[in-house]
Amino acid sequence: MKKKRKNNKIHRAITHIKLDFANVGKLNRLDDLKKAFMPLVQDYVDHIFDNNLKEVSKFDEIPKIETNLSERYKRCAWQQAVGIMQSFFSNERQNKPILKRIVIQGNANVIKIEKSRTEEFDFWLKISTLEKGRPVRVPIKMHRYGNEIIKTGKLCSGVTLNFENGRWYAIFVVETKNQKEEAQGDIVGVDLGIKNLLTTQTAFFGQFSQKLIDLVQKNDEKRRRKQKLNACLKKKNREPVSLQNKKLEATIKNEIGRAINLFIQSLPMNPTVVMERLSIKEMRFRSRSMNRVLKASKIGYALDRLKEKLDLNHIRYVTVPAAYSSQECSKCGYVDRTNRPTQEKFTCKFCEYTENADVNASKNIAKRFGDDELKSVTDYREMKSFERFPGARSASDELELGFTLREIGGFPLTVNQLA
Ligand SMILES: [Zn+2]
Repeated sequence: MKKKRKNNKIHRAITHIKLDFANVGKLNRLDDLKKAFMPLVQDYVDHIFDNNLKEVSKFDEIPKIETNLSERYKRCAWQQAVGIMQSFFSNERQNKPILKRIVIQGNANVIKIEKSRTEEFDFWLKISTLEKGRPVRVPIKMHRYGNEIIKTGKLCSGVTLNFENGRWYAIFVVETKNQKEEAQGDIVGVDLGIKNLLTTQTAFFGQFSQKLIDLVQKNDEKRRRKQKLNACLKKKNREPVSLQNKKLEATIKNEIGRAINLFIQSLPMNPTVVMERLSIKEMRFRSRSMNRVLKASKIGYALDRLKEKLDLNHIRYVTVPAAYSSQECSKCGYVDRTNRPTQEKFTCKFCEYTENADVNASKNIAKRFGDDELKSVTDYREMKSFERFPGARSASDELELGFTLREIGGFPLTVNQLA
């Protein structure tokens, strides 16, 4: 089921516009600006987080925090912090956002775009700085892709600056009439698992199942030796050695990061990513060794990283209930645990539809976005524990109660749009 949007205008970002034509003096003043601006945004984020201001608005009175930035920049920093925290709250994130990337979302009060009067450059940016009445003016040569986008619509006021790998870039926003196919956007369902880290309706990202199992088994042996050693050390009243395996953890995190990057690169224009609301803590296997694999696979960490990356890339995402996504036939809707005879295979007992089990699950997840039937369901208590993996069971039958219907019905959560 596709979603309709009231507004048929969309905003497209032109990223990676280089500010390389600015001289050293100008660049130094931009550096001073970022050194004042970023801590202030973080302070505002802290303020909103610490006071749990879930209804925070861009138009709220700005908390008084010491800074040498102008009132106009304070407003920008506040708006930026509010945007971050609105996304934080609606995506039910837990840990306070710590801003690592340097991004200045300037509105027209602090950064103006002027058309160049000479052939040499396309635009000039007039950027206010810490010194009152002394803006820096930076010439811009637009890249070819940017020019293509500008042709499609109207350049918006307001420019975002970002500092990446020692370089400044600008991001322009162009408002265009929505193309029909873009109005609906592509719905990409994502299934998270340990066989394939991410599975969409059409592709897999991050296959490290067997490799992971081997690594975890090796780690288990090591761990047992360390435990024996620690028993000896304890007798001798000496400090125990750490049981943690940092190398294994790093390997897994690396794999996760790579898989997520490939996934993001594969997304179509204007996608909506739909994923399951998982409660990793409550997922358990019957076998202890598989539990260790599950724990080591860091699906919870992967989910967090995925959300973070989607936020950074301004990609919209929603979460839907996870119940039965691996047992339900994505073609006819028949639900049966025997539909999934093995970890990898899905065969519908009713219509005989056969598919890779993860792909089938991701198709279900995509379908659940905006699904009328799910919207009408108000009581999930009837749903029993579900089987995410064969042999897995949830720790409690209340696993599915945690979601709010607001997220699957109503308007999309456009929490991470640019404009
Ligand atoms: Zn079927």
